[in-house]
Amino acid sequence: MTKQFNTKNYDYLVVGAGPFGMTFAYEAAKRGKRSLVIEKRAFVGGNTHTHTEDGITVHDFGAHIFHTDNKEVWDYVRQFAEFNGFQNQVIANYKGDLYNLPFNMNTFYQMWGTKTPDEARAKIEEQKAAALSELGDRQPRNLEEQAISLIGTDIYQKLIKGYTEKQWGRKATELPAFIIKRLPVRFIYDNNYFNHRYQGIPVGGYTQIFEKMIERSNGLIDVMTDTDFFEHREVFMDEFPRILYTGMIDQFFDYKFGELEYRSLRFESETKDSDNYQGNAVINYTDAQTPYTRVMEWRHFDGLADEGKTIITKEYPQDWDRSKEAYYPVNNERNTEIYKQYAKEARQNHPEVIFGGRLGKYRYFDMDQVFNDAFNTVRDEFKVDDQFNFAHDVVK
Ligand SMILES: Cc1cc2nc3c(=O)[nH]c(=O)nc-3n(C[C@H](O)[C@H](O)[C@H](O)COP(=O)(O)OP(=O)(O)OC[C@H]3O[C@@H](n4cnc5c(N)ncnc54)[C@H](O)[C@@H]3O)c2cc1C
Repeated sequence: MTKQFNTKNYDYLVVGAGPFGMTFAYEAAKRGKRSLVIEKRAFVGGNTHTHTEDGITVHDFGAHIFHTDNKEVWDYVRQFAEFNGFQNQVIANYKGDLYNLPFNMNTFYQMWGTKTPDEARAKIEEQKAAALSELGDRQPRNLEEQAISLIGTDIYQKLIKGYTEKQWGRKATELPAFIIKRLPVRFIYDNNYFNHRYQGIPVGGYTQIFEKMIERSNGLIDVMTDTDFFEHREVFMDEFPRILYTGMIDQFFDYKFGELEYRSLRFESETKDSDNYQGNAVINYTDAQTPYTRVMEWRHFDGLADEGKTIITKEYPQDWDRSKEAYYPVNNERNTEIYKQYAKEARQNHPEVIFGGRLGKYRYFDMDQVFNDAFNTVRDEFKVDDQFNFAHDVVK
């Protein structure tokens, strides 16, 4: 009988053309397997998708900085793009006063005028002691108490409270303490946001990585954009022997154990006639009144832009519902329990479907983690040796 979608004897249907789905399809192609990738959006790359306008590479779903200690992943992604060595050095704007992030000797100098690590340490200890004496024997009951007991009042009030309340859409006193487990501080003058050895952004953006995977697949990857799995679910399930699914796991099961919750974001971009609007790639607005959390100026991510043009994007956190993009999983007790039921159901009743990626596993993944997790899925699926290096070894 003629098939509607599996017209080329595909080995895999890959649902979602994000980093997880595309890496799987590319590695399957290297092993001689043919995949049809379906993507509900109009483009590949998932949330890492970028486009270029006025010579400026814009990250369509928020600032994406590649940072990792995983050399295999770092070498792997650099097969598809040149990386520029960008380091994120974020500025916080609190009611017009500017501070360097993450919390380091520059921040402490701006906050208190302390100049040596000993002075800064003493100041933080003094503030923490005041908070802890107020708590007495009791454990912190909410995020506010937790943060103050870890870092003291000044940094909490100016750099954590407003930002966190906007991110979560709730008062810090109503948020659970476990959201903040640690608040790393650096007693050196170092504004590099990430600690990882390898950092950067692909020159020309992320989308080329996934386009090159398709180009280099020897015709074994076909992509259908603007195609939602759920519009033809029965046909897909019937026609494909094996499915890699990177969409939302609760939707796959018609929400039968309940809906998993997310936080969403809204982005507002504008082009300005300027060579330099804010002087930095990312500025966080840490007060409660400014409705957005950060402003990105894309030309500062790679120094490339047409003369006299700059594009800025404001990021607004928002509540999530099914009509909005799901960005951050809310990994509280309720959702963790619900996710476990879906994962169990997947294992027991759908061995032909592999669930992967941030939506399929209901977990926040940085990009390096998602590439690494895709490697692990390939290892399981194709019985790849643990010692195999995906960046360097040739598939026999
Ligand atoms: C605001 C923000 C900033 C981030 N910044 C960084 C950063 O600086 N550094 C970093 O390392 N990571 C960052 N990340 C994380 C990064 O975006 C993820 O690691 C990565 O996108 C995960 O890849 P994925 O393939 O699992 O999912 P996605 O990229 O989300 O791809 C999944 C794809 O599946 C498609 N899909 C879903 N359901 C269906 C369906 N039913 N039918 C067809 N297609 C479907 C989606 O449209 C999407 O294209 C950030 C994330 C966010 C939200």
